[in-house]
Amino acid sequence: MSAEVKAEEGVLRGQDCPFCHKKTLTLAEKEMEIPHFGRVFLFSMTCDSCKYRKADLEAAEPHEPARWTLDVTSKEDLNARVIKSAEALVKVPHVGSIEPGPDAEGYVTNVEGIITRFKQQIEVLKETEEDDDAKKKAKNMLKKLQKVLWGDEPIKIIVEDKTGNSAIISEKAQKQKL
Ligand SMILES: [Zn+2]
Repeated sequence: MSAEVKAEEGVLRGQDCPFCHKKTLTLAEKEMEIPHFGRVFLFSMTCDSCKYRKADLEAAEPHEPARWTLDVTSKEDLNARVIKSAEALVKVPHVGSIEPGPDAEGYVTNVEGIITRFKQQIEVLKETEEDDDAKKKAKNMLKKLQKVLWGDEPIKIIVEDKTGNSAIISEKAQKQKL
């Protein structure tokens, strides 16, 4: 290890970046206790040179592979915690999905945070879309999601993870083994 390496509360700076090979990668690790789920390790890699970024999480204790479904029908449901690993598939029927894969990120958020991410995805789509019909469709979708965020419209959220590192924490959430 080089002399530049210093540790501060789970942070390692000056690491080798696997992409641009400069010593500008920061590794961060954090631990979180999530009620009704348990301890979760969150880690991230960020390179100051090439802007490479990766974030993911892993439960301290293994959980079984599961599909979580939540019918969001009130503003209260928007506060339900969502634990999403990079391996999770997040689906909102008739709206879209967040796919797992090497570019996917893991994070802890809530239902509101998930809906907001979908909104951002659709906003980008709306801006880049050439087709008028598709633009209109995106616009309507944004309206619908805004209503969901106001608690005025129901929606269904599905989080599927074959590694068991994801969950929706709500008494209303339905869990199915995968
Ligand atoms: Zn880099």
